[in-house]
Amino acid sequence: MALSQIGLVGLAVMGQNLSLNIAEKGFPISVFNRSYEKTEAAVARAQKEGLSDKLRGYKDVKDFVESLEKPRRVILLVQAGAPVDATVDNLCKYMEPGDIIIDGGNEWYENTERRKAKVEALGLRYMGMGVSGGEEGARRGPSMMPGGTAEAYKYIEPIVTKVAAQVDDGPCVMYIGDGGAGNYVKMVHNGIEYGDMQLISEAYDVLHVLGGLSNDEIAAVFAEWNQGELQSFLIEISAIIAAKKDEDGSSLVDKIVDKTGAKGTGKWTVQQAAELSVAAPTITASLDGRYMSALKDQRVSASKVFGDLGLKAPAAAAGVDKKQLIADVRAALYCSKICSYAQGMNIIKAKSEEKEWGVDLGGLARIWKAKSEEKEWGVDLGGLARIWKGGCIIRAGFLDRIKQAYQRDSNLPSLLVDPPFAKDLAERDAAWRRVVALAVTNGVPAPGMMASLSYFDTYRRERLPANLVQAQRDFFGSHTYQRTDKEGWFHTVWDENF
Ligand code: NAP
Repeated sequence: MALSQIGLVGLAVMGQNLSLNIAEKGFPISVFNRSYEKTEAAVARAQKEGLSDKLRGYKDVKDFVESLEKPRRVILLVQAGAPVDATVDNLCKYMEPGDIIIDGGNEWYENTERRKAKVEALGLRYMGMGVSGGEEGARRGPSMMPGGTAEAYKYIEPIVTKVAAQVDDGPCVMYIGDGGAGNYVKMVHNGIEYGDMQLISEAYDVLHVLGGLSNDEIAAVFAEWNQGELQSFLIEISAIIAAKKDEDGSSLVDKIVDKTGAKGTGKWTVQQAAELSVAAPTITASLDGRYMSALKDQRVSASKVFGDLGLKAPAAAAGVDKKQLIADVRAALYCSKICSYAQGMNIIKAKSEEKEWGVDLGGLARIWKAKSEEKEWGVDLGGLARIWKGGCIIRAGFLDRIKQAYQRDSNLPSLLVDPPFAKDLAERDAAWRRVVALAVTNGVPAPGMMASLSYFDTYRRERLPANLVQAQRDFFGSHTYQRTDKEGWFHTVWDENF
């Protein structure tokens, strides 16, 4: 029997769909799962979808490995953490030097680096590849972010470039960088996704509660926004969600308990931002938003405590011009989104410098046609924006503008100062403030928009009150300070009684 070109282990939602996608793109694939029922289900689905000649299921891991063309390429889509270790150990018993393992899960990047070192000692090659787009993306074409052993990428490139989502300027995949770079950028992608979701929910809240818009009106507003600068998968699905009716004809979204789950990548992004000393207040606000949402019982009690003290729940604001409010919220959402992406990109930039990921990215780019020739180090942020244009959850027309920003200046310190984005922010500044002011005045929390506005105001401020903080540090800790009028470090005895 002819050997398969690639193998895939882990046939839950992601693995089953990605394996069918790979088969559909014409690559014979062998699949394996710890419990055989999922393998049977994948084989049955392949049959149903007319792909049985391209997808073969195996019950035994040795047979699975032996069914693959060399160097063997095996994608893992098992639960992150210990299951990946168990699966890698199992595969290593049969794989041979030169073979490649590609972990496609949402894995912590250091785990990838640890496993990479471990399997490289056996002569194998290891990649960590972020895959975004959920079930639908995996089946139709995800955004893929492979990192790790650089020379291994050429063995998977012909497959992943066909399997990935395709957009106007190419497939949504490129080699990201060495080590755990692929998992890392996927983690930040998810952090940005948290930010987008939080900001859209705040726009919905302001329009619904303060503007008095019905869910149907909001659905129409979101659908219209989806035609312009806010066009994105998340706005598109939010319009559909707002319009969705329950069986009794009422809005389904109103019946959903206001508690948000989380799986960890948003938290890791915020932890990483702190580790790297990169401010990411919008993404942090979105994570905090999820944590606060979980305190449902406490929130219900607190609303009673403060209601009894005269602070009523927010309601439609008097004298609101609906048309103006819709335009203002659109502007506030767009500006906040620019801030959120600026934060995410800066996390990747800082990590990329620290780890020297993709130190030979320019050379690799020329060989493998990624778009980063002019860079000496670092993840190609413009290319990254390009591969997020399709397939993934944060896909949006907006990413094209981010790609262009980094093409104009690959060392851009912040998206906020890219000239077209700076102009957009300046033009919308007043509207953004009106929305935040309205929310604050009426007690509607808009932490993502507020954090974004403060981030913007802080970033564009020439002089901050940090002089006082530094003076306080010097007062109680002799931490010294610099002066505006002389070179050097100074210490003052601020008060001899302390
Ligand atoms: P999942 O629920 O994260 O994991 C289930 C799979 O892991 C099953 O194949 C299961 O095998 C296997 N597994 C669990 N413990 C194992 C062990 N000790 N040894 C070997 N195999 C073990 O599956 P998923 O939702 O498809 O996600 C796969 C990966 O993609 C995860 O890292 C996830 O975070 C990431 N991801 C998911 C999505 C999504 O929308 N679901 C999107 C992007 C990325 P059994 O059937 O034998 O239990």
